[in-house]
Amino acid sequence: MQQESAWSDERITQLRALWTEGLSTAEIGRRLGISKNAVVGKAHRLHLPARPSPIRNPPAFRPAQRRPMSPPPQPHVMRAPEPQAVVAKPEPAKVIARINYKGPTCQWPIGHPGQPGFHFCGDPAAPGRPYCSTHAARAYVGGKAPASGSKDEQAA
Ligand SMILES: [Zn+2]
Repeated sequence: MQQESAWSDERITQLRALWTEGLSTAEIGRRLGISKNAVVGKAHRLHLPARPSPIRNPPAFRPAQRRPMSPPPQPHVMRAPEPQAVVAKPEPAKVIARINYKGPTCQWPIGHPGQPGFHFCGDPAAPGRPYCSTHAARAYVGGKAPASGSKDEQAA
């Protein structure tokens, strides 16, 4: 047969290589220029080992699909400690004084804070002082800060 005589050592080597490579018999035959049946017959006679998957397609080029298996690194988040709520309870008298302060007038409290009659002195304040000269003298000279509206405290 013409095909049998065509099996040179070189072609047999190619057959073995392609066979080992896992190509289908049709593909091997196409590359060697012979029929598929010729490839099967020759391989049988050469006692080539049976391939795991005879109907396997020739190994095509498969691009390596590199998928990052590791999850993306999570940003290291530093949770700032919650600031402690410092509840400042302003004294009502100070709030009222601050609200009512409109200018250089004496802020000496007269009366009791929070009560209807409570008010400030209202006289022109001394320069650099929140009180009038009279009340400033009480506040600073006497060393006694105006407390709870001692209305007409006797000056020393
Ligand atoms: Zn005053």
